[in-house]
Amino acid sequence: MATDKRAERIARFIEPLRVKPGSRVDLTEDFDPAFKAGIKKKKDGVELLQTGVELLADYQRRLAAQDTHGVLVCLQSLDAGGKDGTIRHVMSGVNPQGVHVAGFKVPSAEEIDHDYLWRYAARLPARGEIGIFNRSHYEEVLVVRVHPEILDRQKLPPEARGKGLWRRRYREINDWERYLTDNGFTVVKMFLNLSKEEQRARFLRRIDVPERNWKFSASDARERARWDDYQRAFSQMLSATSTEWAPWYVIPADRKWFARICAAAVLAHTLIEIDPRYPEVSDEARRQLADVKRDLVKEAPKGAAPDPYLASADRKGAR
Ligand code: AMP
Ligand code: MG
Repeated sequence: MATDKRAERIARFIEPLRVKPGSRVDLTEDFDPAFKAGIKKKKDGVELLQTGVELLADYQRRLAAQDTHGVLVCLQSLDAGGKDGTIRHVMSGVNPQGVHVAGFKVPSAEEIDHDYLWRYAARLPARGEIGIFNRSHYEEVLVVRVHPEILDRQKLPPEARGKGLWRRRYREINDWERYLTDNGFTVVKMFLNLSKEEQRARFLRRIDVPERNWKFSASDARERARWDDYQRAFSQMLSATSTEWAPWYVIPADRKWFARICAAAVLAHTLIEIDPRYPEVSDEARRQLADVKRDLVKEAPKGAAPDPYLASADRKGAR
């Protein structure tokens, strides 16, 4: 399929997932974790995922070659939402050299000693790279909001606390992302939206399968008990921080295979919009290449093709 056709198809596919800037989101009402866009079975979605993964690999090479833009992907979800598996599948086709994954856990003492965005800024992608945040600066308005005791530990001066704190953080985050966007770093944010029942099933699997035990901790169960508080915090976050320059996508996450298709599509769309190009070689550089080529061709030993690459390309063409 031609690239424009694919690009159009992807844009149409992800449209319902995008949170319209300025809209008020109520997660429980507005987004269905089991949505699958009319695709009935996992096998019916294979081709679509493949298309997304191939596009990504191609565009990532161009992004790296052009070395002008960077992409920051922020992944958020509740526990067992499928962040790790999504990263593994969606990035399966891309060159590992061009991708960096940064995971964020409970902050260290050193991190707490800085402003709250410091540790995220330190792990941003460079130009030409795709950086993936597995959890992100959004934890600062999620887990920190649901657990005020974490905020207490952040050593904020009194004037930085009190009423309006969350609204201020939303604004600061929007401003920071605007700054990144203005300077060539596209920010794309995905929330893997899991239902409470599917989380229950995945937790049980982590408990039942010994090889998965390590993925489960008692704190996961404690967080689950705060389900409604998290849904509220996510709803407010989505409403306040889906912007024209860095929109949120709510990814239906109850079916892992569908979530992966969506994530690949969102990322492919982002790269298509950036439209990175291989650098043009100057006339002078082209002349130099021709000179070197002439010398290399002359070096061909007896019996060898003067230019083995062209010779094999000719053979392939003739077939
Ligand atoms: P996991 O991703 O399962 O390894 O868990 C990481 C844990 O770190 C989660 O429970 C997060 O809520 C927690 N975490 C991530 N960022 C922060 C933060 N800024 N402050 C406090 N806890 C955090
Ligand atoms: Mg966990």
